[in-house]
Amino acid sequence: MSDVFAPVETVRLAVSGGGQFPVHQIFCVGRNYADHAVEMGHDPTREAPFFFLKPDWSILPDQGEMQYPGLSQDVHHEVELVVALQGGGENIPVDQAESLIFGYGVGIDMTRRDLQAEAKDKSRPWDAGKSFRHAAPCSDITPVSQTGILNQGEIILRVNGDIRQQGDLNQMIWKVPEVISRLSELFPLYPGDLIFTGTPAGVGPIEKGDVLEAEVQGLLKLQVTVV
Ligand code: MN
Repeated sequence: MSDVFAPVETVRLAVSGGGQFPVHQIFCVGRNYADHAVEMGHDPTREAPFFFLKPDWSILPDQGEMQYPGLSQDVHHEVELVVALQGGGENIPVDQAESLIFGYGVGIDMTRRDLQAEAKDKSRPWDAGKSFRHAAPCSDITPVSQTGILNQGEIILRVNGDIRQQGDLNQMIWKVPEVISRLSELFPLYPGDLIFTGTPAGVGPIEKGDVLEAEVQGLLKLQVTVV
């Protein structure tokens, strides 16, 4: 049986050293750095991690122009390490989780903070706050064969050259293998999945004309211009 229409084309990210990474699901971890949890008015203790998803069409590759989204006056940047999976499964033990990692990127979990705040107030889903076109800018992917497993390293976001967010991957409350394991208990994971692993403190608004540069030590940088 043939498709009744052509399927939507797969979103892809370039891979350092050649090839392309076909994107499937995009998971994001909430409040995974204590200083960011505190700045958002929450207790930074180690409660179970929580997750939300973004659609694959929210990806914006490096050097992209981000269209400022509609229905918001307060879009915030959240710089995050992105873990790119080459394997999937369910109920993956923590000590096997790193074998699923293909590589890493640096991404920005763009957030319509005003819509997210309204959703929180009304106990509604976060989707409109977290999902929109260009809500997930992401760098090219660097294979783990080039980086080794990343447990530490500086993570930084500059807006128009000024540092707005700065932290270290070792400040994550839930470490990457724990995040992968927990996610796989909730959802089936697949090759091509991306995991945005949470943001350090310093989130703030973006404006049209801003140039954002996101960097994780040892990975390719991400640059985005807001239009
Ligand atoms: Mn985030």
